Amino acid sequence: MRNRKIFFSILGGIFALAIILSVIILHSRDEVLRVIFLDVGQGDAILISQGSQQVLIDGGKDGKLLLEKLGKYIPFWDRKIENIIETHPDQDHIGGLVEVLQTYEVESVLETKMQSDSQTFKKLEEIIAKNKVEKVEAKKDVSLKFSNGATLQILYPFDSVMDVNGKDTNMYSVLAKLIVGENKFLLTGDLPTTQENELLSGDIDVSAQFLKVAHHGSKYATSNEFLDKVKPTEAIISVGKNNSYGHPNPETLQRLTAHRINIHRTDESGDLVYECFQLTNKCVLKAL
Ligand SMILES: [Zn+2]
Repeated sequence: MRNRKIFFSILGGIFALAIILSVIILHSRDEVLRVIFLDVGQGDAILISQGSQQVLIDGGKDGKLLLEKLGKYIPFWDRKIENIIETHPDQDHIGGLVEVLQTYEVESVLETKMQSDSQTFKKLEEIIAKNKVEKVEAKKDVSLKFSNGATLQILYPFDSVMDVNGKDTNMYSVLAKLIVGENKFLLTGDLPTTQENELLSGDIDVSAQFLKVAHHGSKYATSNEFLDKVKPTEAIISVGKNNSYGHPNPETLQRLTAHRINIHRTDESGDLVYECFQLTNKCVLKAL
């Protein structure tokens, strides 16, 4: 009788383990790639996730909020975020990253040589060094690959950013393009119009259906000329409710509307989740 009880409890254990393992395997083979514009208030945080592979671009300003958001989209058994990209060292982009590095294993951090005197930046650099996270300089021609063939290419800055402490940090924001089959997402950080012009005068393909509007919809970015070249059909604005900067600026909204671009905002809709399906080669915004 006792042996029988042990036998059945072992059997039950094996069965439960098999279920857990198959869920993990099924999930890691998940072909759907998700681009999630996390609602982190006034700031940017974009999670690109496919199976067990994750890339986080910026982390908003609040670590606790960011961890909560990540927990919603990264399965509990996956304690690793493969790559983190810091577009530039402003508080509303890197503030949440210290806690991410304390919580998740991270393979590499991609950042420019842009420095900041802020405590947050110093803390972030300290933990990157302490955890022996590989540092990769973010500049043109650096790219990351996903197992379904999608690529994330850095288009800007064109070259090393040198000796720039104290300058306008937005000017050297990392601009990246995610290519999933025929779908393209242009991720702009806080890049201002002066740099958009630099991109337009160069031989850079900025075309994309999905545009993460630069600098939370500031009027000093997203020019008509830039929109003419990118030709997006959808614009995503990562912005905080009632923020003190007046973002997004009505002029920027007007430029987007004049170009017949659908506007989605995190302050109005919360997290914006795009799902890219290999079968249909389409990326669609998940119903809110
Ligand atoms: Zn910003």
